[in-house]
Amino acid sequence: MVETARLAACVRAERDRAETLFETMRSLSFDGIGITRPAYSAAESRVHEALAHEARALGLEVTRDFAANTYMTRRGRDPLRPAILIGSHLDSVRQGGNFDGAAGVVGGLIALAALDAAGVRPDCDLTVMGVRAEESAWFNVSYIGSRAALGRLPAEALTARRVDTGRDLASHLAEAGGEPGRIAAGEAFLDPTRIRAFLELHIEQGPLLESEQIPVGIVTGIPGNFRHPDVRVRGEWGHVGLLRDWRRDALLAASEFALALDRLWSERQRPGREMAATIGRFGTDPALHALTKVPGEVAFSLDVRSCVADDLAELEGEVARLARDIAARRGVTFEFGPRTGVPPGPMDPEILGGFERCAVALGIRTRRLGSPASHDAAAFAAAGIPVGMLFTRNANGSHNPAEAMRMDDLLDATAILAGWIAEQAGR
Ligand SMILES: [Zn+2]
Repeated sequence: MVETARLAACVRAERDRAETLFETMRSLSFDGIGITRPAYSAAESRVHEALAHEARALGLEVTRDFAANTYMTRRGRDPLRPAILIGSHLDSVRQGGNFDGAAGVVGGLIALAALDAAGVRPDCDLTVMGVRAEESAWFNVSYIGSRAALGRLPAEALTARRVDTGRDLASHLAEAGGEPGRIAAGEAFLDPTRIRAFLELHIEQGPLLESEQIPVGIVTGIPGNFRHPDVRVRGEWGHVGLLRDWRRDALLAASEFALALDRLWSERQRPGREMAATIGRFGTDPALHALTKVPGEVAFSLDVRSCVADDLAELEGEVARLARDIAARRGVTFEFGPRTGVPPGPMDPEILGGFERCAVALGIRTRRLGSPASHDAAAFAAAGIPVGMLFTRNANGSHNPAEAMRMDDLLDATAILAGWIAEQAGR
């Protein structure tokens, strides 16, 4: 097995390549203020092509699937062994930053370059995947590229319209060289039994690592959620002079629900089992409400998320119980309406432990943390593939031009990633 410290030195020697790749991507998608790479846009395609160009220069094989994802592969000694995939997305939100997503693809490429320079001959294929269309800001659909590659994108997603052009996903996908018909048919490009692990490196989107001055985070899980976009609380419209005991006030009932939900969150919150409950929209109907009326109906949205499937199921039960109690006491009804949800993306405990071992061997400080946001890795976990994820420290949040990842931190995270790959596949 290759010496970890030597491999880390080879990763550090890749600094110029990483900086040049980020500069190239910036120049291909700068919008005057930040970075704009819409899902299945020309800007996103240009960035895929630039990275494929670099991959060919590194001697990697470049292929593309029918969802226009890019795969850059170093062939392993044994073609029958399941491959290790390293990947993240290359699209961005409007006026976003240059590191959200792209850091994971650049990290993957320099990991492969460093493994090669260190003389590691992997026993299985190592593939860097540039994923399309992860940002749900464009089509209001999550994990489009990764789920399509795995044959798990529902056909109806192809009719979703991009928020800026009004054209559907199928036509944008075809324009970018994809084949929507094969996605609609549920065809899979990736076979989960042929994938040993999916590894994703991503900037942290919250302030935890920055505030604790820790360069790399080891992700414990990606949250799943249940959502009700349109909850209705129905009571009875009444005159402002109506006495308290005769009121069926929908606004007080809904408010009580919101505060009880917040209390539930604060009681349940535990380190490593992060959850969140958000009522993003809340109100009475402006066409009906008035200064002199007791509110008879309130509508709100509900998003509850947790990294732990059991916690999520329990929370769903608790939410229903809260609503029943309040409804009985206040003489109102709660109608939760349509429900959507995705399961949590659990991380593989062995990969997690392996990352920690490599970090200790390299003297890199890390901490475990749950991901508050969604990532492609969750789509791979849902397909039953062992998944591991690293965050790099990043100031100023993400989805904005001020994202501030340090190159040293990316190299540290990449060294851990490369160290794990060498340990698993380098013999
Ligand atoms: Zn991202």
